[in-house]
Parts: sequence; structure tokens; C-alpha cells
Amino acid sequence: MKPGWPGLLLLPALACAGPAVRPAAGPDYRVHVDAGLRAVTVERCFTGDVPAAWMPGVPAGAVLPRILRVRAGAPDAPLALDDDVLPLAGHVRAGDCVRLVFDAAVLARASRQGGAADALVLWPALWLWRSTQPGPDWQATLRFDLPPGVVASAPWPADAAGTRTLGVGALRTPSRVAIGRFPLWIEDVAGARIEVAAVGGAPDRATLGPWVRGAAEGVAAVYGGFPRPHAQVVLMGQGGRGVSFGEAQRGGGPSVTLWVGGASTPEDLRTDWTLSHELFHLGMPPIDRRDAWLSEGVTQYYTHLCQARAGVVSPLEAWADLHDGLERGRASDGGWSVEAESDALRQRHAYWWVYWGGAAWALELDVALRRRGDALDRVLRHWQRHPCCDGTLWRGDALLAEADAFLGTPLAAPLKARLLTQPGFPDVDATRTALGLRTRGRQVLRLDDAAPDAATRRALTARP
Ligand SMILES: [Zn+2]
Repeated sequence: MKPGWPGLLLLPALACAGPAVRPAAGPDYRVHVDAGLRAVTVERCFTGDVPAAWMPGVPAGAVLPRILRVRAGAPDAPLALDDDVLPLAGHVRAGDCVRLVFDAAVLARASRQGGAADALVLWPALWLWRSTQPGPDWQATLRFDLPPGVVASAPWPADAAGTRTLGVGALRTPSRVAIGRFPLWIEDVAGARIEVAAVGGAPDRATLGPWVRGAAEGVAAVYGGFPRPHAQVVLMGQGGRGVSFGEAQRGGGPSVTLWVGGASTPEDLRTDWTLSHELFHLGMPPIDRRDAWLSEGVTQYYTHLCQARAGVVSPLEAWADLHDGLERGRASDGGWSVEAESDALRQRHAYWWVYWGGAAWALELDVALRRRGDALDRVLRHWQRHPCCDGTLWRGDALLAEADAFLGTPLAAPLKARLLTQPGFPDVDATRTALGLRTRGRQVLRLDDAAPDAATRRALTARP
């Protein structure tokens, strides 16, 4: 420390003014915010080839920032768009930087990711500008330059120095970046580094931590370890208790977001299955929306079993939730097959029918496999080899063909043809009875250990 060194006194003012021109080496993108969270500055310096033009991921991003060319030894020069595209050829040369300066509140509003007093929740498509035709091998590095006390959460893996690596999936698929003053911590669970961001008045870490760990451990019990080396968990606070909604995203890295009541108790979260469900999605290959019966069905089937495998709920609680869901699914009959409703899910919204119809298929397939000394877990571990987040989408039938080739016998595809392509809900009564689920209506009264498949039932919820 050198008392009286004037540079030290100037530092805070400089930090608010935006990043200085920097040497060529370093991350491709630098994302800077000021201490008041008033402006977001995204800077890209071009060290080699300069692309002919630049653009945001969605047209809405084009009108948002002030755009500057930053060149050493020259005043900053404004750059103008041409039809929502930023021409760089003739304006920017190697060694120059392009700086996008956003009003933070405007950018957060345009992001439509929900507001939070302590965080800017941002949609990268608006500000992660890229060349007009990024190839499949596109890759970039990114760093957040943040004032003291301000943190950033993103789905992109970071090295020890905080430099994030982005593949082309970051440009193709939505994701969520949160920047602000909120609790952010790492849960090391089952071989994975899970970055937890609790924004907007979510419950405290002591309440959320065990919930996150329990859900991740349950998923890991199926995949033999958490299925991805890292993941982002964004927990958005809201009024009340419990979880109202959750979603999984794959924009360059595995991520889930859940809306959690700030007054939620540990018991509210223990019995909530949403986090288990969303985290389970991350282990599956990305699946086309038309085949929600597969992505949601398999996930819904495993959601409650995972909770039991982690010891978060009892086997009876898990089977009760599974049975109740199957009954709700069966009661929601709109006259179409599960496959047809899945294809029309965005028009007809037959969620219970599709999710639980797919879950019924998964239950039937898993029990059939267990009777052969195999398990659906093994298929999940096989599928898990597909990249999580590069933007590729799989059709359900392709994955079923792959599963049957892996199993060495046609099971998955014929079962789908039998259960899901005709009107009516898949009949799982015989399987439930064989497993020893003694039910009345939507309730499970008890689990019968004398049932022929009772050992399979116990194995399905056993802790590893
Ligand atoms: Zn889901």
C-alpha cells in the first residue's frame, strides 16, 4: 500500500466508466457492469480475422445498445447498424474492439426473464453478438469483469480464473445469466460442480443447499454420478411457499431455473419434486419438442424414484406420487393417442396425458428390463453420451432405435408402438399389481412384499 498514490483514488471512477482498452490476449468477450448495476458493457476485441458483420441472436437485440469502435490511440467511434446487422468490414480492423453499451434496466426488461431487485437476469441472445454465420465449431471465451460484491451466474463452464468457454450451443439455445448482489455458491455433488444462484428473495442457503444436494444425488443415483460435470441452478424468489414452475435450459451448458417461494420451509422443499425433475432432464439427450412424451415421460417416471433413491422421500411416498400422477394422466383423456397429443402439445396442451403416458411407457419398459436382469438406468447411461448442450435435437424414434440396438433386442420401440400410438392411456394395472402397489383410487394404501415383482419394486427406489 502506498498512501497518497493518486491512482488508487481514481480507480472507482474508472471502474464505473467502463473497461479500458486492453491488450490483445484475453477472453474473446468481456462483460462489465458498474457498481450501481446501471449499465452492461459487452466488449469483443478482434485479434485476428475480423468477421464481415456482427449481429445479436434475435432481432430485438439490435436496437438496444450504443455501439462503439474502440481503437488504441484514437477516440471511440460510434458504429451504425445496417438493417439489424452491424457491418464490421471497412470499419473495424484487427486490434480494435467493439463495445456494446446497454442500459441495464432496459436490457433486463427486454430479456423477459423475470425481475429481481438484487439481480439483472439477462437473455444472452440480446447481447452475445456474433458473426452472421457462426459455424458448428464456433467457440469463444468470456469473462465477467465485476465490481466488488457483484457476482455473475451463467451455464457456461469456467476455469479457475473465471474464464468461461462457450460452444455454438450458447448461440443456438436460450440460457439465463444473472448478474447482481445475491447469494451464489458451489455445491460439489456426486462428481459435479453445481453453481447455485439464489436471486430475488429466494430462501437462504441453509434452506436451499440440502434441497439442491438431495435432488442432485437422486439424479446421480440413476446415472452413476451426476450426468454432467457442471450445471447452473438459478432459484428465482417469489412470494409464498413451494415451487410454482421450473425449466431446464441447454444454452451452451446445462442449467435449470425454478421459481421458489421465499417463505418455503425445508419441508416444503423436501416434498417438492420439481428440482429433481429438472435436473434429471439434464442427463438426457436434447429431444425435439414433438417427442415430449419421451423426454418428459422418462423424466417424470424417474422424478419420484430419484427422490427415494436419495433418501429424500420414502419408497411409499415415491410410489404414491407416481401412482397419483398416472391416475391423473389417465383421467385427462382427450381422445387422442399419447404420441399424437405429444406432437400437438403446443396447440392442445395435454400435458398430463403426454407426460404421464410417457411415464407409463417408461414404467412398463423398466419392469420388462428388470425381469430380464437389466434396467432402464443402463439405457439412460447409454444415451447420456450424447452432448448435453450443443444445440442438436434428437427425435424420439431415433433414440428408441439406438436403445434397442444397445439392448440387443427390440423392446423400446415395439412397446411404444403398442402403448402410445393408439387412443387410450397405457394400461399399467397388471404391472402395478405385480410390483405390489395396493391402491384405492388415486391412493397407494401399502406396498405388498409378497407380490411377484416386489424385489424389483424395492430395487427401483433403493439407495445406491
Ligand atoms: Zn420436464
